[in-house]
Amino acid sequence: MPKKLPKLAKPGAQPVYRSKPLQEHVHDSYKSRGKLSEPTLCPQCGAVFHKGRWQWLPKPEPAHSEMCPACHRIHDNFPAGYVKLEGEFLAQHRAELISLARHIEQREKAEHPLQRIMNIVDEDGTVLVTTTDIHLARGIGEAVRHAYQGHLEIHYNPEENLVRVHWKR
Ligand SMILES: [Zn+2]
Repeated sequence: MPKKLPKLAKPGAQPVYRSKPLQEHVHDSYKSRGKLSEPTLCPQCGAVFHKGRWQWLPKPEPAHSEMCPACHRIHDNFPAGYVKLEGEFLAQHRAELISLARHIEQREKAEHPLQRIMNIVDEDGTVLVTTTDIHLARGIGEAVRHAYQGHLEIHYNPEENLVRVHWKR
């Protein structure tokens, strides 16, 4: 598993490589679960931090207020997962593939509030799906391969908590 992966040219995306202090800051920002008081309510999406994880629950009263990691990543436009789809099959079945990705998101998000698609962008004949969590990116890639075969590569970078999924058919 390579440590350094080629960057995807994504217009408007934040650079994946970051200097050390900023990287540590980023990690702190998105992984502050242990410090949260309970219950904490995300003012953006309404998810509730309860029993050590973010869940969809009725709004607790009173509650602390802090943005959940998924909303934080969306706010910062800083994905954890990149799923790149390409090939001739994609060109003919784009809508089906995107619909499948959305379906996986809905299924995962229903149980796990932090699993969300951030953007779906067409670029140079490919489709790039960005996600708030590495598990959703992996799940979308595996679902696409399961449904349509093709070639799937998954590269996980533990230092940056980043996953890049590449599917081609
Ligand atoms: Zn939220």
